[in-house]
Amino acid sequence: MRQQQRDILRRHGLASSGALLFTLLFMAGFQLQGDPADAAVLYSAIAVYWVGQALLLYWVGSGRSLNYQDPGLTAFFMVWAISFVSIILYLCSEHRNVVMLGYLAVMPYGVFRLTWRGFLGVALFTMASYTLVMLVLHHQNAGQWQASQEALLGAAFFISLLAYSFLGREVALLREAYRQKNRELRRAMVRIEELAITDELTGLYNRRYLLRTLEKQRALANREGLPFVLAFVDIDHFKQINDQHGHRIGDQVLVELAQLLRLSVREVDLAARYGGEEFVLLLSGLTLATAENALNRIRIAVMEENFSESSLPLTVSIGVTQYHAGEEGDELLNRADRLLYEAKRAGRNRVRTETLEQTSAQSS
Ligand code: GH3
Ligand code: MG
Ligand code: MG
Repeated sequence: MRQQQRDILRRHGLASSGALLFTLLFMAGFQLQGDPADAAVLYSAIAVYWVGQALLLYWVGSGRSLNYQDPGLTAFFMVWAISFVSIILYLCSEHRNVVMLGYLAVMPYGVFRLTWRGFLGVALFTMASYTLVMLVLHHQNAGQWQASQEALLGAAFFISLLAYSFLGREVALLREAYRQKNRELRRAMVRIEELAITDELTGLYNRRYLLRTLEKQRALANREGLPFVLAFVDIDHFKQINDQHGHRIGDQVLVELAQLLRLSVREVDLAARYGGEEFVLLLSGLTLATAENALNRIRIAVMEENFSESSLPLTVSIGVTQYHAGEEGDELLNRADRLLYEAKRAGRNRVRTETLEQTSAQSS
């Protein structure tokens, strides 16, 4: 059960307890004054009210109302209770001062839940049903009631309802402001999370996100045997580009190469800027041979492209290695870095791989 649903049910539980106490009070009032001929009507009204209340509670409890605009069906509960109080008002008219408190007891449940319009609607419904009952009673008891006193009581009642309505309006405004702030806060948090894992210059994932993803990939590989490959991609003689064309062009080259790398890998892979002019690709579910082919295609794509507004040619060197079950992330990164260094030493613009067998042969 969702938290929201639990909150709604707790609130309705509380409201139902209040309704039960008022029902008992009304029954006591009826014993004191009511016309025994009306007993059947009274108990029928009580039965109908509680069957309706139970149905509303069942509907809310089943979760069916959760995507309604008013998930707690607050307005329905209130209108239902107010109709019930109006019947009681009619049946226990001698105790109308007490019964009227029943109306006022219903109101607070709407203050925190309904929109200001919804609340005004319920308040108007209350005034209308109260006025109707009082007119009928007045008609039946013509001459016995003091009209001026009833009018005063009615006016006091209406003023109380109006006061509630204004209170409801204030609370509705506060709630809206609070919701707005919450939305802004959530948006800001999403943005902060994005910034924390994104490289500012290229928009690729940054080293922090790469290391986090590497840990997840390692867990998958160790637990489920899903292989993956890690490649270091480093621009050849990048310093010369900076020296000859300036840092701004250097930056443009980095941004465009990042774009090329991002578009060259699949959804399941990861392209990250490791730092400076070094990038890392995490390729999921591939063997070393397949990865080597894919990386060679990327290397050739870079070679065939011109970069920045100065249309500069570019080459990259790549060191690539496969994850060995059980090893640490650092071991994998160091191995790829060493292979990159070897690619550089062998003349650059090439992919250097190493099989696990070669690795273990070297270390033994
Ligand atoms: P090699 O082929 O051996 O990799 O040579 P290289 O010149 O690419 O490598 P080196 O490590 O000597 O130089 C890397 C240069 O990258 C030095 C640094 O100024 C530059 N660099 C690092 N970060 C940035 C950046 O964000 N923008 C620009 N424009 N240059 C950067
Ligand atoms: Mg370089
Ligand atoms: Mg470098």
